[in-house]
Amino acid sequence: MDTNNIYSTQICDMMNIGIVVLDKDFKIHYWNRWMELHSGIMPGSIVGSNLFDFFPNLNNPKFIRNCKSLFTFGNYYFLSQKLHHFIFPFKPVSASEFQFEHMQQSGSIFPIRNDKNEIQYICIAVHDVTELVAYEQKLIEMTKRDVLTGIYNRRYLEERMKDEFEKHTRYRRTLSLIVLDLDHFKGINDTCGHQYGDYILKSIVAIVKPCLRTVDVFARYGGEEFCCLLPETDIDAATRVAERLKDAVSAQEYFFQNTLIKVTISLGVAEACENTRTIDALFKNADDALYEAKKNGRNRVVVAKS
Ligand code: GH3
Ligand code: MG
Ligand code: MG
Repeated sequence: MDTNNIYSTQICDMMNIGIVVLDKDFKIHYWNRWMELHSGIMPGSIVGSNLFDFFPNLNNPKFIRNCKSLFTFGNYYFLSQKLHHFIFPFKPVSASEFQFEHMQQSGSIFPIRNDKNEIQYICIAVHDVTELVAYEQKLIEMTKRDVLTGIYNRRYLEERMKDEFEKHTRYRRTLSLIVLDLDHFKGINDTCGHQYGDYILKSIVAIVKPCLRTVDVFARYGGEEFCCLLPETDIDAATRVAERLKDAVSAQEYFFQNTLIKVTISLGVAEACENTRTIDALFKNADDALYEAKKNGRNRVVVAKS
């Protein structure tokens, strides 16, 4: 680094951010300890070299244009993690449930002037924001999930219903919806207690989930009512899925204090068609069919009239 100030280098080496100083030709003049730690490249091996020889990912027209504009205009340039994910392709330091291939970085580039007030260098400052991004992703994920069962919640279902219905109306994509509800669940709660009821809800989810495709949206609509949104699925295929779910649930035996508890579900199935002009209409058709299934004796599938 072109400085007489002995403190500056020591401070830069102790800071928990990456600092790289470049000249107009992208030749590296300073590489702080943070950069050394995360890249494994010693300053002695990189100072004096062209940045792009070590980091070809930065050799792109946008980065070059922005750096050049800094030399011309002396402006400041922010590198957002949201846009770029990383500046230097380093390994992430901390393990998190969200597996990032690279350390998530945000950064800034700013000019450094000499004693004649001319811009002689530019400095890239790099921040490791991996943990922040992981927290953010975790929070976003939490807003989509039902706390008890871990599947999607009603809010996320409604978002996806809107998207999938849009695809159906715009591109004529097939779309079906299954609404399912546990039969006489109040009785199970009353007899076996709320905790056992919760256990049954989680068990139903564990049975239903493997019967669906990963593209299907399985969500807890509320209480003991669930929805399966099935993109690219017509009414016949959706009915077969619903029958499979009904059979899988009723085949499972539960015991409470050595007494066999029978658990069944009723299901209503509907396909988006010319009569269902809104997502609410599709939902109502499936829900009306579910009501019929309840009325006709439960533990059955009823297909909505189209
Ligand atoms: P039907 O066959 O007509 O659907 O009868 P049902 O008893 O299943 O329906 P009802 O609407 O009368 O009762 C639903 C019950 O579901 C009442 C409520 O206490 C219970 N329930 C809703 N959410 C939860 C939950 O998160 N945990 C437990 N354990 N019970 C719940
Ligand atoms: Mg019920
Ligand atoms: Mg219900």
